[in-house]
Amino acid sequence: KNLTAAEIKQITAEENVQFLRLMFTDINGIIKNVEVPISQIDKVLANKVMFDGSSIDGFVRIEESDMLLIPDLSTFLIFPWEAEHGKVARLICDIHTPDGEPFIGDPRNNLRRMMREMQAAGFSRFNIGPEPEFFLFKLDENKQPTLDLNDDGGYFDFAPVDLGENCRRDIVLELEKLGFEVEASHHEVGAGQHEIDFKYADALEAADNIQTFKLVVKTIARKYDLHATFMPKPLANIAGSGMHINMSLSNAAGNAFYDANGNEQLSSTAEHFLAGIMDHARALTAINNPIVNSYKRLVPGFEAPVYIAWSGHNRSPLIRVPQARGLATRLELRSVDPSANPYLAIASILGAGLAGLAAKATPVAPVNCNIYDLTPEQRRAAQIEDLPSTLHNALKALEADEVVKAALGPHLYQSFMESKRQEWSAYRQTVSGWERKQYMMLY
Ligand code: ADP
Ligand code: MG
Ligand code: MG
Ligand code: MG
Ligand code: MG
Repeated sequence: KNLTAAEIKQITAEENVQFLRLMFTDINGIIKNVEVPISQIDKVLANKVMFDGSSIDGFVRIEESDMLLIPDLSTFLIFPWEAEHGKVARLICDIHTPDGEPFIGDPRNNLRRMMREMQAAGFSRFNIGPEPEFFLFKLDENKQPTLDLNDDGGYFDFAPVDLGENCRRDIVLELEKLGFEVEASHHEVGAGQHEIDFKYADALEAADNIQTFKLVVKTIARKYDLHATFMPKPLANIAGSGMHINMSLSNAAGNAFYDANGNEQLSSTAEHFLAGIMDHARALTAINNPIVNSYKRLVPGFEAPVYIAWSGHNRSPLIRVPQARGLATRLELRSVDPSANPYLAIASILGAGLAGLAAKATPVAPVNCNIYDLTPEQRRAAQIEDLPSTLHNALKALEADEVVKAALGPHLYQSFMESKRQEWSAYRQTVSGWERKQYMMLY
C-alpha cells in the first residue's frame, strides 16, 4: 500500500492515467480538488504544486495565500469508474506553507497533531468505524434533484429490488474495488435511505475513507439518475441521516478499551475516555453537527440522540457501548451526522476522550431505560443534560470549552466560528413557510 514516487509514476504510465486529482478538505468538510494533467506528475511528486489558499473557506488571508500541496503517497488510487477522457487517479494531500511547514489551518494536519498527542499518552491507534447514512432522490429531466425518493422501502427491506437497491450494490462493488472492506449495507428506516458500513481504520485513514466514500456514493448515484445527499435531515417527517462513530484505542497489548477483569469487561481507559466525551458533549456537538439542518435531526422520535447519556443496553442514548468485547470493544457515538468534517470531528472527539483520560474522569451512571419516557424532573435527578438544540447553542458551548477548542487549535477554531456564525446569522434572517402558515392569518 505504501508506494514510492517511482512506483506511482510507473503505475500511472502502465494504466494510462490521464489526470491526477489532488484532494484536500476545507473547514466545512467539502472535498476540494486541484486536477492536473499527467504531464505534471513529476512536479506533483516533488511537492511543488501550489494553489491559492485564499479562495478556500477557512484557510488563509489574502496576503499569505500561496500554499503547497503535499501528496500523501499512501492514498494513491485510480478511480475504477470509466472516465470519458482517460483514467483519473487521486492523491489526498496535506497542505504546507510555502516555506514547507505543515499548515495549521488544514484539518488533516490538525488530526495528525492530535494523533501525536494520543501517541504521547501511550496509544498506537484511534480506531474509527463510521456508519454513514444517506438518501437517494430521483433527478428530474434537467438532472436536478427532486424530493421524490427512489423507493418506499423500510429498514432491512429486501424486496422488491428497485433502483436504489441496484445503485447501492453498485456503490458497494466500486468501494470494494477501491479497497474498502464493506461489512454491511442495508436499507435504513427512512424511505429512500441507505446505510453502508465499512471496516474501521486508524483515525486519519478513516477520515480519508469517509471523504472517499461520499465521493463514490455521489458519483455512482448519478449514473442511476439519482442524487445522493448526506444532508442530515432532508425531509421533516422521516428519520434523518446520521453517521455513528464507533471508536476504540489500541496500545501494544491490543484493544485498550477491553479488560477481561474490568467492570462490564471495560477497561478504566474506556471509562475515562467515555467520561471525557460526556463532559464535552455539548461543545463537540458544534463540530459533529455543524450545520443548521443538523439540529432538525437531533429531535425526539427518530432514534437520534437528544440527551447526554450513555448505555450498554439500548440504542437511544448519545453513547452506546455495544455488547461485543475483545477486539471489538468500542464506544459508539450516535450524535455525529455526515455533514461533519470527519477530520475535525475525529480530532475533537479524541481531544475530549484524552482529556477524560488525563483527568481520570469517571462517567455518570448509565441510563438503561428509555430516556424519552422520563419526566424533566427525573432527568434532572439522573443528571441527564440536553444536547444543544440549535447551532447557535452548540457554538456557545464550543466557545466555553477549552478542551475542544484546543483540539481544533486557534486557527481552525477561529475560522470555524467565523464561518458558522455567518451561517447562523443568515438562517436567522430567513422567514419560513411554517411561520407564515402559523401566523399570517392568526395575527
Ligand atoms: P450497529 O450495530 O450500530 O449498526 P455496525 O455493525 O453497522 O453497528 O457498525 C459497526 C462499526 O464498528 C463498523 O464500522 C466496524 O468496523 C466498527 N468496529 C468494530 N470493532 C471496532 C473497534 N474495536 N473500534 C472501532 N470500530 C470498530
Ligand atoms: Mg450500522
Ligand atoms: Mg445500524
Ligand atoms: Mg443506521
Ligand atoms: Mg450504529
